[in-house]
Amino acid sequence: MIELTIDGNQVSVESGTKILDAALSLGISIPTMCHNGELPHFTSCMICMVKEGKGGKLITSCSVKATQGMSITTLDDEIREARKTALDLLLSDHVGDCQAPCQTSCPAHMDIPLMNFLLAEGKFSEAYDVVIKDIALPSILGRICPAPCEGACRRKSVDAAVSICLLKRFTGDSPTPPPTPTSTPVTRHSSLVTSSSLVSSSSLVTHPSSLPQIAIIGSGPHGLSAAWYLQQYGYQCTIFDNNPLPGGGLRYSVPRDKLPEEVLDREIDRIRNAGAIFLMSTEIGLDRLKELEIEFDAVVHPLEKAPKMAIKASALGKEAALKIHNKLRGQPVTDEHRNFHSHFGRLTEVEHPEYMKESVPGERVEPAGGIPQGMTPQEVMTEAARCMHCECRKPDTCLLRIYAHEYGADQKRYHSLVRKPVTKQFQHDTVVFEPQKCIKCSICVRITAKHQEEFGLTFIGRGFDVVIGVPFSESIRKGLTHTAEEAANSCPTGALAMKRWRL
Ligand code: SF4
Ligand code: SF4
Ligand code: SF4
Repeated sequence: MIELTIDGNQVSVESGTKILDAALSLGISIPTMCHNGELPHFTSCMICMVKEGKGGKLITSCSVKATQGMSITTLDDEIREARKTALDLLLSDHVGDCQAPCQTSCPAHMDIPLMNFLLAEGKFSEAYDVVIKDIALPSILGRICPAPCEGACRRKSVDAAVSICLLKRFTGDSPTPPPTPTSTPVTRHSSLVTSSSLVSSSSLVTHPSSLPQIAIIGSGPHGLSAAWYLQQYGYQCTIFDNNPLPGGGLRYSVPRDKLPEEVLDREIDRIRNAGAIFLMSTEIGLDRLKELEIEFDAVVHPLEKAPKMAIKASALGKEAALKIHNKLRGQPVTDEHRNFHSHFGRLTEVEHPEYMKESVPGERVEPAGGIPQGMTPQEVMTEAARCMHCECRKPDTCLLRIYAHEYGADQKRYHSLVRKPVTKQFQHDTVVFEPQKCIKCSICVRITAKHQEEFGLTFIGRGFDVVIGVPFSESIRKGLTHTAEEAANSCPTGALAMKRWRL
């Protein structure tokens, strides 16, 4: 047996054990993307670096064997920087969007590709669930949003942007069941006011006083959105507004021909029916605000400066709701999780056919009955199918993305001026291969060799130009005859992924 020290902990391991495995036996996890215990070893990603001895020599823990008396440090500033550099280099020629540009440019970060996918399949109720997760007022915003998502839509460079806003509006206008609460509320503490002490309007609903109470100042898109999500989390919301009717700028600034009153009232009624109490014609000055902060479990502060776009105000209302929810259940009050995001510039003409592989040809659908009527279900399915699905297939499980976030990687640090054109290989029945997302870890190569594929996958070319491919220029279908699923599920990035990944 060999004895060594890892991060100050003594451990005995069998001769021949790699440092990575010795650390794991102590419960210390070292990041790696190319290591797979089931496969022959191959060092490539270089993010498993650790330091050996007092001299602090950096070594790769997946390839170096433990030796008697070794002293290993698995994380410090220098190791962190070395891992970041390895990630920066891997990302320098990585071409992919972790999230589609439409989603990153939507202030509410709605999952637009998923909405489009479901609408194209006629799954309207499921599509509504996707929208309402991030946008509390889909019918209203589907009429008045300037649609920054459509400005960023990649389909625009092929012919015309997907009509995202009208699609979203359709989901809001369709009759759908109300979503169930997403979380259990915290228990209300006893010194606070009961809802009965707040009642001053005949339209109020009676609620159990055990629910935590939230005061919301202002019933514009910010307040309405905050109320909707707080009600979903399980809180009792009371909205104060000095106007006689709720809606704020939506009611008092937006022209009625653009946003009909019945649409506004319908979405507000949904929030009222979810349990929110509206106290209208109620001025909240500074003194009263201080009282509310004592009387309620939490108060949402009107925005100091109203954003120009209602969607931005609505997104901030959603964020405020999450912050309050986290605060009241004792979790860190941080901004909504902002993950690492790989992205590239415009599509070039040569890439249009590659992106159209996940779409259908056809001009942007204009509603036959005109914009005020909106789209019919058939029009919705046709238009949603125009989406090219620019999103990655492994946004939540890709190790490159996870570690890039953890180590603060910078995709631009070493990036070359000329990027490789995106290609998407769809010849296989079950998997898709996107070589420009490949980090050449060779896990797929080793899987095909282990299971004796006739052609399998291999390294093709030399040096910086090396790529993973099927020998003799055969298609991916011939390379992966019985190992496709295992290779796709083992690939640490979105390079090799299941075709029907959403199902
Ligand atoms: S492969 Fe990973 S890093 Fe690349 S686009 Fe997909 S999720 Fe992002
Ligand atoms: S084509 Fe689809 S996924 Fe791509 S940007 Fe447009 S709406 Fe988003
Ligand atoms: S395609 Fe193969 S070599 Fe490339 S990242 Fe995925 S598993 Fe690794």
